[in-house]
Amino acid sequence: MRPYRAHFRCITRCPGEYQLDEVLYRCPKCGNLLEVVHDMEALQQRSAAEWKKLFEDRYMRTDWPHGSGVWGKREWVHPHIRNENVVSMYEGGSNLFWAQRYGAKLGVEDLWVKLCGNSHTGSFKDLGMTVLMSAVKQMIADGKPISAVACASTGDTSAALAAYAAAAGIRAIVILPRGKISTAQLVQPLANGATVLALEGNFDDCMKVVQRLAAEEGVYLANSMNSLRVEGQKTVGIEIVQQFDWRVPDWIIIPGGNLGNVSALGAGLKMMRELGLVNKLPRICVAQVEAANPLYLAYKNGFDKFEPMVPQTTLASAIQIGNPVSVKKAIRTLQEFDGVVEQANETELADAVARADATGMFCCPHTGVALGALEKLVAAGTIRRSDTVVVVSTANGLKFTDFKVGYHQGKLPGVPVCQYANHPVEVPNDYGKVRDTVRRLLGA
Ligand SMILES: *Cc1c(COP(=O)(O)O)cnc(C)c1O
Ligand SMILES: [Zn+2]
Repeated sequence: MRPYRAHFRCITRCPGEYQLDEVLYRCPKCGNLLEVVHDMEALQQRSAAEWKKLFEDRYMRTDWPHGSGVWGKREWVHPHIRNENVVSMYEGGSNLFWAQRYGAKLGVEDLWVKLCGNSHTGSFKDLGMTVLMSAVKQMIADGKPISAVACASTGDTSAALAAYAAAAGIRAIVILPRGKISTAQLVQPLANGATVLALEGNFDDCMKVVQRLAAEEGVYLANSMNSLRVEGQKTVGIEIVQQFDWRVPDWIIIPGGNLGNVSALGAGLKMMRELGLVNKLPRICVAQVEAANPLYLAYKNGFDKFEPMVPQTTLASAIQIGNPVSVKKAIRTLQEFDGVVEQANETELADAVARADATGMFCCPHTGVALGALEKLVAAGTIRRSDTVVVVSTANGLKFTDFKVGYHQGKLPGVPVCQYANHPVEVPNDYGKVRDTVRRLLGA
């Protein structure tokens, strides 16, 4: 039997193949990003039905590390990692929530929210970080001189990096834009013992600094320009289809900042089609926040040209990115998936979160951007009411308590009116008065 193999290749197909354990993030010939290419002939030795059965047999079971949603699909992800180097915290397997009441309000019966924030560090970044950290652990075991792993982050990447590095016993350095991430997100890497640098500047500035550290100081770069992360994040689309018993939804909506995640989503779905597990692709919508919408603007111009921008402050802090590193991959994905780009502003995202939360969810602001985009696409008729729609929820709302508190106190920057704010009602310790208040509020 032919062994499962994968290597790096330039996304613009410059000649050259590079090993996955080479410390390399960009094409040495043209400077574009790399992508992981799998030996598809080797993977075709198993039939589609056999792959489905294998993935189902492993899914969320205890046979370590295959119970992880990522490592249960290891042949498609990073076939060269030896078990002793896997750094896993049981990623994936997150709930695909049937948003029945929220969907009914929009008139979309078959609406689902993939709760990727129900994860070890509270965001989908865990899906990619488990692969990257396992690869680093194996490189170190094989004698590669890697002193630390580093990233620039809008919050969630650093949380994932710090946790996985700590679990592996590898040093982590995170560079964050000072004052631009939530308290909970800042405390995660601190608690996990990472070296945290709060840089005066925005995310794009942090990105420049960390790339230079990687080039000059021998630290390993963990941002999503590192395409090993994309391989792990790729499982989200595969898992969604698996959770639908291998049925493909009509639409998947995903919030985008640096645009690695949409590229990953597309890569996983395409691999499924190539290996015959599905025979169609969903349409994809990237949802951007108006304060940082360079992809949306480029989309409106038919992708004639892409112009980076200086992003404005936004509640959706994890996607406050004006110069997305994976923009070329993302545009390619959108073209292959008959994709669209939609945007939501601060009020739209905050109100969408409030409407969704009132039906039992607890969404982060980025999920709010995706929901805001969904509401617009349904109103415009682009998404039909009979369509099956999946919204990718990227982080756990519990990481964004400042945002939640601000909304329900009616004091949220950029949101003049918080129309669904729910205030606590203060009552004296007097049963009669409490009862009267309850009766009044219930409209009795
Ligand atoms: C990282 C992140 C995003 C954006 O993902 P990209 O790959 O940068 O487009 C969206 N939401 C949350 C919560 C994130 O942490
Ligand atoms: Zn190249």
